[in-house]
Amino acid sequence: MKIVHVASECAPIAKVGGLGDVVYGLAKAQEQSGASVEIILPNYELIDQTLLEDVHQIEPGVISAKLSGISLTLIGQYDQIYGGNETARFVQFCSQVKNHLSDFDILHLHDWPVCLLAPLIKQTHPDRPIVLSVHNAHHQGHCSQDVLDDIDLLLGDLTDPRDPNRLNLLKGGLIYSDAIVAVSPKYAEEILSENQGDGLEGVFNEQKHKLSGILNGIDTDYWDSETDPYLVYHYPRDDVESGKKANRKHLEDELQIQETSGPLVCAITRLVPQKGLELIEEALIYTLEHNGNFVLLGSSPDLKIQTHWENLAKTYASPHLHCHFEFDEKLAHMLYSASDLIVIPSLFEPCGLTQIIAMRYGTVPLVRCTGGLADTVFHNQNGFTFDDPTPDALILALDQAFDIYSNDKPTWNALIASGSTPDYSWKHAAKAYKSLYKSIR
Ligand code: ADP
Repeated sequence: MKIVHVASECAPIAKVGGLGDVVYGLAKAQEQSGASVEIILPNYELIDQTLLEDVHQIEPGVISAKLSGISLTLIGQYDQIYGGNETARFVQFCSQVKNHLSDFDILHLHDWPVCLLAPLIKQTHPDRPIVLSVHNAHHQGHCSQDVLDDIDLLLGDLTDPRDPNRLNLLKGGLIYSDAIVAVSPKYAEEILSENQGDGLEGVFNEQKHKLSGILNGIDTDYWDSETDPYLVYHYPRDDVESGKKANRKHLEDELQIQETSGPLVCAITRLVPQKGLELIEEALIYTLEHNGNFVLLGSSPDLKIQTHWENLAKTYASPHLHCHFEFDEKLAHMLYSASDLIVIPSLFEPCGLTQIIAMRYGTVPLVRCTGGLADTVFHNQNGFTFDDPTPDALILALDQAFDIYSNDKPTWNALIASGSTPDYSWKHAAKAYKSLYKSIR
């Protein structure tokens, strides 16, 4: 079976968040299970060419390469991933991909940036199977009609349900794909509601017959505390305690934060409203007031948010706080290995990977019960959960976590053990996608 993934991100060469991890991880699992897989990406300037093999130009504007053995096609020439005139950029990219695409059994699209391909392909090849994975329905690719002026689009009405004067690119993907996959079962339910459908709940409900939820996996070769090249101290999943202690000491020395008897708490996140920023702030203050250390690794596309957090870091400056406002892969790995607790109080979370990676590294997640967080973290079993997006609900969960950490090591270790042992690999999701592909061919 020839599967072609088209996306705006792919780890590690073009990653902004979880979407990049998912495209790479799923493609790799499918390739390993015998499928023939190709990933098509915009050719971004930021792509580190040293990570690619067999690079050659196959036609003007189209480069063929291998990424860890997977066929990769880079199309066009783009100076950034998101921001700026992103809808026009991705519309142009979709048009270039359409001209390049030839043989495939399944065309697998990921999120709004590549959704225009669904109507573009269906208008000439109605029988060719298309799957759309919805990683985040909040981002929909709103644009004015003139963005499509140079595009030969005959099919359909892409008018945004909330604003008749603009188009909605995600809507086109939802209507013209043969199957829609939300990245967790809970999120597949949530996007049918007004609250999470973000204006597209009507379209999701109309297309409900082809909607399902498949929980993302993670690349367990990459996220492995026994072999992780970013770690100074490796440790097996069945003996987290000593490995975590050594990594914590190393991290505290590197970041120059002072050792304390309380837990090391971290947040590794894009600093965007979706992630429950006020609640992360609460968790930071709580941790400092309760004898813990707090490390924030987060970057924001929004200058106002970034400035707010920089000021916050100054206000609460202490030997027990470290804030790092950049995307830093190495620090992320060091934090997963060194931390005791990770806080993820998202307002919504389609799947979320940080809680899964954290559990694999023996870090206990404290999460708000939404989307994929609700599908993976269970209160007092492998982590701590709370429902209401309020400081009171968060603090209740933090009270429980801090109390167990300080006073009940056997229970704490049991939480770590039940979080670190399950198989989080792509195996299950790849199997589920395979049967889905079969059902629409
Ligand atoms: P989202 O896709 O909404 O950003 P996910 O939880 O699905 O959230 O995925 C986040 C991914 O990005 C994880 O691999 C996480 O480790 C990584 N990440 C997030 N912020 C940073 C950062 N500042 N530096 C390094 N990695 C980060």
